[in-house]
Amino acid sequence: MDLRLGNVAATPAERQAVESVLGPAVSRWEGGVRADETEGHVAHGGHEARARRHLLLPILQALQQRVGWISEAAMDHVSERLTVPPADVYGVATFYGLLSVEPRAPRVLHVCDDIACRCAGAEELIEGVEKLLGPENGDDSQEVTWLRSPCLGQCDRAPAALVTVAGAKPHEEVLAPVPGADHAVARITHGPEVEGSEDWVDPAATVPEAGAPQLRLLGRVGHVSPTSLDDYRGQGGYAALRRAIELGPEGVIRELKDSGLVGRGGAAFPTGVKWEAVAHQAVRPHYLVCNADESEPGTFKDRVIMEGDPFALIEAMTIAGFTTGCERGFIYLRGEYPQAKATLEEAIKEARARGMLGRDVLGHGFEFSISIRRGAGAYICGEETALFNSLEGFRGEPRSKPPFPVAVGLFGKPTVVNNVETLVNVPEIVLFGGAAFASAGSGVSTGTRLFCLSGCVEKPGVYEVPYGTKLHTVIEMAGGVAGGRELQAVLLGGAAGGFVGPDELDLELTIEAAREAGATLGSGVVMLIDDRVDLPRMLMRIAGFFRDESCGQCVPCRVGTVRQEEALARLISGDTRGTVEDELSLLDEVGACMKDASICGLGQTAYGAVSSAIKLGAFSR
Ligand code: SF4
Repeated sequence: MDLRLGNVAATPAERQAVESVLGPAVSRWEGGVRADETEGHVAHGGHEARARRHLLLPILQALQQRVGWISEAAMDHVSERLTVPPADVYGVATFYGLLSVEPRAPRVLHVCDDIACRCAGAEELIEGVEKLLGPENGDDSQEVTWLRSPCLGQCDRAPAALVTVAGAKPHEEVLAPVPGADHAVARITHGPEVEGSEDWVDPAATVPEAGAPQLRLLGRVGHVSPTSLDDYRGQGGYAALRRAIELGPEGVIRELKDSGLVGRGGAAFPTGVKWEAVAHQAVRPHYLVCNADESEPGTFKDRVIMEGDPFALIEAMTIAGFTTGCERGFIYLRGEYPQAKATLEEAIKEARARGMLGRDVLGHGFEFSISIRRGAGAYICGEETALFNSLEGFRGEPRSKPPFPVAVGLFGKPTVVNNVETLVNVPEIVLFGGAAFASAGSGVSTGTRLFCLSGCVEKPGVYEVPYGTKLHTVIEMAGGVAGGRELQAVLLGGAAGGFVGPDELDLELTIEAAREAGATLGSGVVMLIDDRVDLPRMLMRIAGFFRDESCGQCVPCRVGTVRQEEALARLISGDTRGTVEDELSLLDEVGACMKDASICGLGQTAYGAVSSAIKLGAFSR
């Protein structure tokens, strides 16, 4: 990519795509004059245009959706419109897996080849697709192509694929489960292109216990029409926001602290402490970010809530905005969730129309609005500071901490970041009190927890249980190992977690017990691996995932993830450098270096699954 602008003009379709986000340009450097709905300002010059850099990713996504790839001329045009250097635009465009700066066919079948889908025959599916469509990312002059994809968050319905069709009427849909290569290829070749024609899946299909009285977080999934505010209110919705207003911000924070609620993403930071820290910051404005980028392979619980009970998230975010003094909230939604996006958009629109969002929420004089921003296929953007960079229009690279987001977060302002599951616990805490919430679970593990059961399991899906439930109980709830086969291992916490053996199923699912056992609950992944699964090959997939998803910013992770994959490949092929023991100690050394010297959690956890599998004897079977 040249540092200077080229001489080729963007095509009318490319200009249209950019205008769909920025509005029409008035002159080469004016940056457009349309009032920006999301920011509420009018751009008049280079400085103002640059102030809209946060729209860079949405613009690139619009180009991808309209044309199917992002040409150099299109990037130059974006560069002019935002007065951002062309190299910066290129740097962002090449960061995300769902964007392409090389010519690509407009119809793409993204076939998941990640760990849960592999347990359900993804490799056979890919073989079949390859036979029908030719090599991966083949001839760009064709209408249709296919790509391997990391986890699509549909592990309960594996094997899965995502269809993306670029054009004037772009289309996206998830195929899960894919009955066979023929079906997938027919769908990508002749599938519907009309917006709104999607045939959405019932979210309750992912909740095998839907309707059970003990469910707190999943109670409404399958029992309300997801986009009906009346249904939601009929089931007690928005009583918590009214109660929060009665309690006032300090009262809500007190209840949150009493509840002991900690983040459900893996770091387990106390939510009340985080909210209090932001609420008390004198610097304004404050921002709220809902991290809905759940990209941990094996995780799909947040998707179920967003698709099945979106108002619960909207109400929880409104309570958070009221309590912490945020007038704007963002939902950073993973790019592979078209159904969640459509459902949330409709629910937000409805909430706005009915006065539950906007300048005067419920007539109580406080302002709160929610915008959805989509990720574009970068696992690292689930890290909170990488997510800020992504939202601001930069490459999604993590920032060094401190400063922490509660003081210097999105756009350099105090920011609350919580994931979906953490947030949807809040309404119940506000309504019934922190003490009642803390009556389930123990220690720092209070309340209930969502676990995503997938892999070789009889009844995959999301299960809600009180913290402290034994691992074997959750597995039994899901019907045990599929087909009654022998259990080889359980992947706990996702690719960033680790494997536990069949003799460790008595483990209590609490943060403390998992830590003591050298495991982690992470994002709630419980993936069963039966005796047919080739564990070393699964480790290769995990290692390849981390190598691919490393942002490359720090050496231990950038180089370590490559060295790890290479050593695993040698172990699998038998072509070792020295003995197997030599390779295993090299892996240990690389893993320790990544853990100790990487900037963020990706590098720090990249060896966790591999090392736990080695302890289980993955290379001595
Ligand atoms: Fe990027 Fe890896 Fe470093 Fe995290 S640890 S900042 S993902 S290179």
